[in-house]
Amino acid sequence: DAKGHGRNGMRFFNQQMQADISARAELAAGLRQAILNNELLLHFQPQLEREKGIVGAEVLLRWQHPEQGMISPARFIPVAESTGQILQIGHWVLEQSCLQLAEWARFPDTTHWYLAVNISARQLHSTNFVADVTRALQQSGAAPDKLVLELTESQLLQDVDTVIAKMQQLTNLGVRFSLDDFGTGYSSLSYLKLLPLQQLKIDHSFVRDLLTDPNDKAIVKTIMALGQSLELAVIAEGVESEAQYRKLLQLGCKQFQGYFFGKPQPLESFVLSAKVQSSI
Ligand code: C2E
Ligand code: MG
Ligand code: MG
Ligand code: MG
Repeated sequence: DAKGHGRNGMRFFNQQMQADISARAELAAGLRQAILNNELLLHFQPQLEREKGIVGAEVLLRWQHPEQGMISPARFIPVAESTGQILQIGHWVLEQSCLQLAEWARFPDTTHWYLAVNISARQLHSTNFVADVTRALQQSGAAPDKLVLELTESQLLQDVDTVIAKMQQLTNLGVRFSLDDFGTGYSSLSYLKLLPLQQLKIDHSFVRDLLTDPNDKAIVKTIMALGQSLELAVIAEGVESEAQYRKLLQLGCKQFQGYFFGKPQPLESFVLSAKVQSSI
């Protein structure tokens, strides 16, 4: 009967919840260990610009677990976000990225490369955010205009005035901001105009079926038009095929990232393949 079914449903729900909670607690404890044991590392995925080739890379965090192998950031970032561990981790990513930029700046063939770093909501909303970014730049000697910070729309819904002030302070130093996963959130046109952004990043979900789904084509066209009217660069993420690349070019897109151009990879292989590509 309905009542019995409800009780079983509830018990199942509780068991499922309990399992989720334990899994997250285990992940959080593992993550504490990961920080201590240097199990976190950075991968680099090339970003390309029409007629220029590789212009930079997105920095993507990886967790090389001693027993479980590589754990996806899609799994552990939300946990780190809820425990607050993301603050420490995010700061480490920022420091490492700035050190890398300072290193690349020393050599003519890599000096123009920039890095795009993902910033979590907790980081952005922390009172130390501007000071932390500024310190990472100063201590490394990295040029601020080689640092791009990727934010998502949902992070920008709270404390809008404070966030804009922070973005403005960093923009004044030369740091650039990109709006990640664009099109999946709720930004209005008037709101976008208020933000000191330099780039919109078309979410990969609109690129995936671009060739077959007229809705996705319409969305990409709209984002391109939006970029043009707000004077923002537009980069497409998740470009996996030449056909997608050609379609995006046709729609006016000039910046690209995706498996078609290169997967996220360890530093050495990124640098090697980027140098080979730019010497062709
Ligand atoms: P994101 O910032 O939107 O990063 C793009 C994701 O798309 C990456 O997943 C990348 O590996 C994947 N990707 C790139 N090209 C392609 C493609 O052609 N096809 C497909 N299907 N996927 C592609 P990844 O590395 O698993 O990262 C997932 C998310 O985790 C990121 O999404 C970002 O939100 C978050 N993340 C990664 N590193 C960091 C970090 O250092 N800090 C913070 N706060 N978040 C991070
Ligand atoms: Mg990103
Ligand atoms: Mg994205
Ligand atoms: Mg994403």
